[in-house]
Amino acid sequence: MQEQLIVSVSGVRGTIGRTLTPEVGLAFGRAFATFLTRRQSDKRLRVAIGRDTRPSGTMMRGAVAAGLMSCGVDVVDLGMVTTPGAALMTRLLGCDGGIVITASHNPTPYNGIKFLQPTGVALPAEQAAELKDIWRNHEFHLVAGDRIGRETVNHETNTRHIEKVCEILDVERIRGGAYKVVLDSINGAGCEVTPKLLQKLGCEVIQLNGEPTGDFAHEPEPIEKNLLDLQEAVCLHGAHIGFAQDPDADRLVVVDETGRFIGEEYTLALTTAFTLRGRKGDLAANLATSRMIDDIADDAGVTVFRSPTGEANVVECMEKHNCIFGGEGNGGVIDPRVVSVRDSLTGMGLLLNYLAETAQPLSELADAIPTYHLKKTKLPCPAEKVPTILAKAQAAFADRPDATCNTEDGLRIDLPDSWASIRGSNTEPIIRVFAEAPDAERARALAAEMQAIAEEVIRE
Ligand code: MG
Repeated sequence: MQEQLIVSVSGVRGTIGRTLTPEVGLAFGRAFATFLTRRQSDKRLRVAIGRDTRPSGTMMRGAVAAGLMSCGVDVVDLGMVTTPGAALMTRLLGCDGGIVITASHNPTPYNGIKFLQPTGVALPAEQAAELKDIWRNHEFHLVAGDRIGRETVNHETNTRHIEKVCEILDVERIRGGAYKVVLDSINGAGCEVTPKLLQKLGCEVIQLNGEPTGDFAHEPEPIEKNLLDLQEAVCLHGAHIGFAQDPDADRLVVVDETGRFIGEEYTLALTTAFTLRGRKGDLAANLATSRMIDDIADDAGVTVFRSPTGEANVVECMEKHNCIFGGEGNGGVIDPRVVSVRDSLTGMGLLLNYLAETAQPLSELADAIPTYHLKKTKLPCPAEKVPTILAKAQAAFADRPDATCNTEDGLRIDLPDSWASIRGSNTEPIIRVFAEAPDAERARALAAEMQAIAEEVIRE
């Protein structure tokens, strides 16, 4: 498969030295500065830049910053920070935009550039398309030497982030629980800030992969097969809970006190259950998120609004419907009281608060949520084949009277007690197939049915 630089609503992603080079960083820095200048040409503009721990981070940060400054935009260098931290600081510093140099859960050879609005939220689709056009057409607003941007440094991100998370928690109550926590930060951006938060919450922290080297100790996607060490360590140390972050620390997955990987879908489900204990309000989640959240919402008498996949879409949906909480089933918890992006630190705080308030172990809290089996698979697939796959999958379900199709984001088929979805990734040349049903066999069969349709088209 021909490797390509991926430019999507989620930003830019590629492999260093091949598709993603300093030249690409420079051009996107210029494109983003031009994009911002077109909106507000009457003032001096400022953009905050953070990066995760990948060794290529400083190089790409330098290239992007040079692009911004060459177009007259000032830069605030946040250094090595989490994605939610960078988003928070973009808002708190009153910047006109933000940039994070990260490839999230992709392995070390990858990196990426993520663009943020002044609120810290990723650009909405139409603005991302405008930015892409500026980049593609090289329509850069370069300035003369006397007007180039300046760079300042800010090291407050972690402190401010911890403060914001603690503001929404009952810190004393959590401290009273004296929780023992195993944390796997995957040598990523969460390495430094996360133990500090947990210690402030009175936890004893056992940290795995806690060096911020970007040298990922295992495959960085926080899914069960990559987290066997964490499960073992929770048992070995008799911990109350195990936390795993992805390399930019926006996603969180959890292991219970028995060492059981309870699944990334439970991060949102459990934090939602806790949130609705104290406050009533509607929720938002993407179309690929488990039905667990609907059951929790039904019990509380509130509504779950669904959005297409992509963090910006979930946040837009939250704003539109005045939601108090939301996120994505991949371990992405969004509490707008802290910051309107997925934040693993917020997720940890809420879960510990849930343990403290109920005095129940995590296994019991997880088991109290009605069980679904969500089968997730992904297949390598060139982007140009995705529309044919979606059309064939939709046709396959067309004559089933009990099936409803939603094509807002790939294809989602809802059946009375189960659903399946198939969609192309925004950031990788893959398609994702999800199927959820009350029992594992039905989920597997439904996923296999969708996967077979996709494989046939990919082979053609
Ligand atoms: Mg991430």
